[in-house]
Amino acid sequence: REKATILDRDGIRRALTRIAHEIIEKNQGVDRVVLIGIRRRGVPLALRLAEKIEQIEGAEVPVGFLDITLYRDDLTRLGPQPQLSRTEVPFPVTDQTVILVDDVLYTGRTVRAALDAIMDLGRPRAIQLAALIDRGHRELPIRADYVGKNVPTSSREIISVQLEDIDGQERVVILET
Ligand code: 5GP
Ligand code: MG
Repeated sequence: REKATILDRDGIRRALTRIAHEIIEKNQGVDRVVLIGIRRRGVPLALRLAEKIEQIEGAEVPVGFLDITLYRDDLTRLGPQPQLSRTEVPFPVTDQTVILVDDVLYTGRTVRAALDAIMDLGRPRAIQLAALIDRGHRELPIRADYVGKNVPTSSREIISVQLEDIDGQERVVILET
């Protein structure tokens, strides 16, 4: 059941514009800054941020992708463990500031897996995290440096992020299950 619209098309655009400015400000420009989107919806978000940064700063930011999928170990009945399935990072990360981009930040387990994957690729100068939505309920000591919107959720609610590139429309809504 659809409960509420959190961001409409303009809301998403404005949040990404603000985050692009924050990235530039925090890093005093984007020299040695790279973006890595977490599939699936982190990818269009990372591409849009790169485009906005280029418009604002006149500098190109490389964009890579990680595919991290939930994997449930049915034998041991452990909780879902995010696992890396594919990496498309066609540039070195060593001495770069890597900004991870995802649509929703929840327990932090996906980001933890992404940190592992990035550190397997090299030795970044720093890793930062951008999330369109932070829905709370962290289970690890992980926080986002850039947040589109904080949305405290109950365990019965999930966030539906709909992006033109993937979903044919552009909005973020809370669903009650
Ligand atoms: P975490 O690993 O932090 O528990 O969950 C984050 C990952 O799961 C993200 O990649 C995100 O896409 C997905 N995710 C977790 N909760 C939600 C949610 O409520 N809505 C959506 N759209 N994705 C979620
Ligand atoms: Mg995801």
